[in-house]
Amino acid sequence: MSQEKHNEIVGSDTAETAVVPNKSVSQERRIVIVGGVAGGASCAARARRLSETASITLLERGRHISFANCGMPYHIGGQIADRRRLLVQTSEGMRTRFRIDVRIGCEATGIDRQNRTVAVHDLASGVQYSLPYDALVLSPGAEPIRPDIPGADLPGVFTLRSLADMDAIKAAAEACKSARAVILGGGYIGLEMAEALRDRQMEVSLVQHSGQVMTALDAEMAAPLNRELALHGVDLHLGATITAIGQHEGGLRVTLSTGESIVCGLVILSVGVRPEAKLARDAGLAIGSRGGIVVDDHMRTSDEAIFAVGDAIEVKHFLGGQQTLLPLAGPANRQGRIAADNIFDRPSVYHGSQGTAICKVFGLAVGLTGLSEKELRRLGRPYDKVYVHPASHASYYPGASPLSLKLLFDPQDGKILGAQAIGSEGVDKRLDVLAVAIRAGLTVRDLRDMELCYAPPYGSAKDPINYAGFVATNVLDGDVASCHAQACMKPAGDQVLLDVRTPEEVEAGTIPGARNIPLDQLRERLGELPRDKEILAFCQVGLRGYLGCRILKANGFRCRNLSGGYKTYKDFAAAEAAKNQTIKAAPANETTPGGCTAQPASAEKVCVTREIDARGLQCPGPIMRLKEELAKLTDGQAVRILVGDNGFPADVAAWCHSTGHQLREIVADGGHFRATIVKGQAQPAAAPGPASAEASRPTSIVVFSGDFDKAMAAFIIANGAAAMGSEVTMFFTFWGLNILRKGQKVQVRKNLVERMFGWMMPRGPEHLKLSKMNLAGCGTAMIKGIMRKKNVASLGELIQSARQAGVKLVACSMSMGLMGIHREELIDGVEEGGVASYLGSAERGNVNLFI
Ligand code: FAD
Repeated sequence: MSQEKHNEIVGSDTAETAVVPNKSVSQERRIVIVGGVAGGASCAARARRLSETASITLLERGRHISFANCGMPYHIGGQIADRRRLLVQTSEGMRTRFRIDVRIGCEATGIDRQNRTVAVHDLASGVQYSLPYDALVLSPGAEPIRPDIPGADLPGVFTLRSLADMDAIKAAAEACKSARAVILGGGYIGLEMAEALRDRQMEVSLVQHSGQVMTALDAEMAAPLNRELALHGVDLHLGATITAIGQHEGGLRVTLSTGESIVCGLVILSVGVRPEAKLARDAGLAIGSRGGIVVDDHMRTSDEAIFAVGDAIEVKHFLGGQQTLLPLAGPANRQGRIAADNIFDRPSVYHGSQGTAICKVFGLAVGLTGLSEKELRRLGRPYDKVYVHPASHASYYPGASPLSLKLLFDPQDGKILGAQAIGSEGVDKRLDVLAVAIRAGLTVRDLRDMELCYAPPYGSAKDPINYAGFVATNVLDGDVASCHAQACMKPAGDQVLLDVRTPEEVEAGTIPGARNIPLDQLRERLGELPRDKEILAFCQVGLRGYLGCRILKANGFRCRNLSGGYKTYKDFAAAEAAKNQTIKAAPANETTPGGCTAQPASAEKVCVTREIDARGLQCPGPIMRLKEELAKLTDGQAVRILVGDNGFPADVAAWCHSTGHQLREIVADGGHFRATIVKGQAQPAAAPGPASAEASRPTSIVVFSGDFDKAMAAFIIANGAAAMGSEVTMFFTFWGLNILRKGQKVQVRKNLVERMFGWMMPRGPEHLKLSKMNLAGCGTAMIKGIMRKKNVASLGELIQSARQAGVKLVACSMSMGLMGIHREELIDGVEEGGVASYLGSAERGNVNLFI
C-alpha cells in the first residue's frame, strides 16, 4: 500500500494520525523513528529543531508517546495522584508544536535495509504498510525479563513497563486492598514498587535472588536498605527466588526456593530488563555480547543509515571502557539528541555512560556513579577506597542526618573511579558533584580543594565532598595507613584491634576481640599496647581512629585506621549476616533493628518526662544525650528521642540491653527515628550489664578439655542458657582450643614445635575423641551413630546454633601462643581474649562452669 493511501485510511479512523501527511513524496530527508518515549521523542524534537523541512515520522506501538515511565511507581503509590501528570507530551502536542507525524498503535515489524523501508503494522486496523526512510532511528527500549517460572503468566502476575501495566497493577492493588503483594527482584523498580504498595497499605514480601538488594552497589553500601525495608513493613527474602506461582482461593500462592509459600493478591516480576533488539537482529544489524544493538559514538549502527539509542543499545562505559548495558533515562534522552545531530551532519559524540543513578527507598536515598568495587575487581583495575559518614548539613542546624559515602579512586594518581552514597538527605547533591568530577577526570585532591556552596541549612563549611577528599588524600599521601572491615573481621595473628571510642559507645557494641582505650587516654596508656604487633585502630566513623593512629605512629607503633570506623564495619557485618536470610518486617509501631528486640508497646502508660531532638548528632551523640538525660530521671520514667542516624536503631537496642534500660518503642518517622526509652533498675557499680531479669545474667563456661563428650556437654549447656535469655561466654583454653579449630589445614607460618603440636592435636569437632571408652576411635564412632539415630544434634551443629544464639566464643590468647595455634586456624566468629575477659563476664554472672 502506498504511504498516501495509508494516511487516508488511518486518517479516517483516527483523527490523531490524519493531520500531517508523510513527506515521502517530498525531496526532504525522511526520518523514521521507532519508539516514542525517552530516546525516540527526544530525537524527534531535536530533529525538528535542526530542520523545519525534514519529514519526521514517529512510530509508537503503545497508546502514548513521551510518558514518564520513571513516575509510574509513584502513581501506583499515590504520590502522583493525577495520571495525566505522567503524560509529559501528547501525540497532539507533538504534532502541533513540532510538526511530527506521530503514529501511535503502530508497530515497526521489519526493516528492508536494501530499499530503506520499514514495515509497519497498524495494530488497531490490522493494516500493514511500508515506510521509506533516509535515516532510521531505533529507540525501542528494553523489555522486562519474565523469568521461566511455572505460573508466571497467571492473571495477577505483572511486570511494569507501560502505562497499561501501571493501570493494571493499580487496579489489582485496589481490588485486593488488604492482601499481600510479592515482588521478585530488589533492583530500582522492585524497591520503588515495594514502597508504592506499602503506601497503598498492602503487605509486601520482596524476594531477591542474591544476598543483597540493589546489586549495582557494593553489598555493605546496600546493607542499610535491609533495615529500612523491615522498618517500613517489608519482609525481605534474600538469597531466595520464586520457584512456582499457583492459584489459591481467588488469589495466588507463591512458592519460594527456601520451601516457604506465601499467599498473596498480586505478584510483580522486576528481575531486570533486556534490550528489545529483535527488529535490529532480524535486519542483520550487529548485536553485542550483552544482547544490545552495537553503535558507534555517533549512535550509528552497523548500517550507516540506521541509528539506535536508549535501553536497546550497548554503551561504552565511560571509565572502564567495556561494552555494557545501562538502561537509564538520562543517557537515552541525550543519545536521541546526538543521533539527530548526526543525521543532520552535526558532529556530535556520545562519550559513554557512567551509570549515575539514584533511588528512593522509603526514608533513604541510595545511589552511585562510576564503577563499583565489584566492577573494579572484575576488571582487574587497581583501586583504593575510603568511607566517610558526615552530616548532610551543619549538625547544629535542625534536620541534619548522616550520609554514608564510599569513594573509589586510583591508588597512583588519585583519579576518582566511583562513588556510592546512602542517607536521608543530601545524597543526590553529593553524587551529582562526584558524577561531574568523574566526567572531568578529577582526582581526590580536587575534591579536597572544591569550593561548594555553604550555609547551615544546606551544607557544612567542610562539605561531605571536601571531607571525602581530605580522607582520600591522606591515604594517597601515606599520612595514614588505612584498613577495611574485612581485615578487622579476621585480624592476622600479629594484629591487635583497638577501639578508641568512649566506654558509652562501646556499650552499644564493638568489634569482637577489640580492646578499648579512649582516644583522650591513649597517650597515657601506650604501655598497654604490644609494640611487636600492628594496631588496627577504629572509632565510630574514622576520625578519632585517624587521630589515634597519628599518636601511635609518632610513638613508634605500626598502626592502621579502619576507614569509616565501626559504622562501616557494622554495614559489612550486616551485609554478611543478611545473605540468604529472611528479614521480617517490623510489626507496626515496633521494630527489631539489627536483631535486637524492642519491648512491645504495651498498654502500660509510659511517663515521658523529656523529649530530646538529637537529629543533628552523630553517634555517640544521641547515646550520650540519652545517658545524660536518663541519669536525671527515676526508674520507670521515660525519655523520647528523635535521631537522624540510621545506625541508631541497632545502637540504642544494644545499649539498652547492656545497660538495663528498656527500649519501649522505636519508629521510623519521616527520615528519622523516634524512640522511647524507659529508665531501668539501678546498675551494679562495677560493670554495666543487663540488670533486669535474673535469667539474662551472664553464664560463663571455661572449656579446658578437648574431649568430645565434654565439648558436647559444654555446648548443650551453653545453648540451653542462651535459650533462657542468658548472655553466655565460653572461654576456651589449652586442649579446649582444639574444638574451635577449622577442619581443614590452614596455611600459616609455624616453627617446628608449633608444627608438631599441630600434627598431634585434633583439628576441629569432627576429630575429637571420647574421654573414656574411645576404643581406638570405635567408641566415638558408635556414640555418634547413636546420636544420629536419636536425632541429637552433632557437635558441629551445636557450635553453629550457639553462634547463632549469640554465645560469645573467646579463645585464650595465652594458650594459643603456648600451643602454637594461630587465629587463622580457628573458625569464624571467635574472639581472642585474656583472662580479664573471662573474669569480667564471670564476675557479673551467676553460673560459672569449668569443663
Ligand atoms: P522507552 O522509553 O522504554 O521507549 C521505548 C518505546 O518503544 C516503548 O514505548 C515501546 O512501546 C516502543 N516500541 C518498542 N518496539 C517498538 C516497535 N517495534 N515499534 C513501535 N514502537 C516500539 N531511569 C532512570 O534513569 N531513572 C529512573 O528513576 C527510572 N525509573 C524507571 C521506572 C520504571 C517503572 C521503568 C519501567 C523505567 C525506569 N527508568 C528509569 C528507565 C527509563 O525509563 C529508561 O531507561 C528509558 O525510558 C529508556 O528510553 P528508551 O527510549 O530507550 O525506551
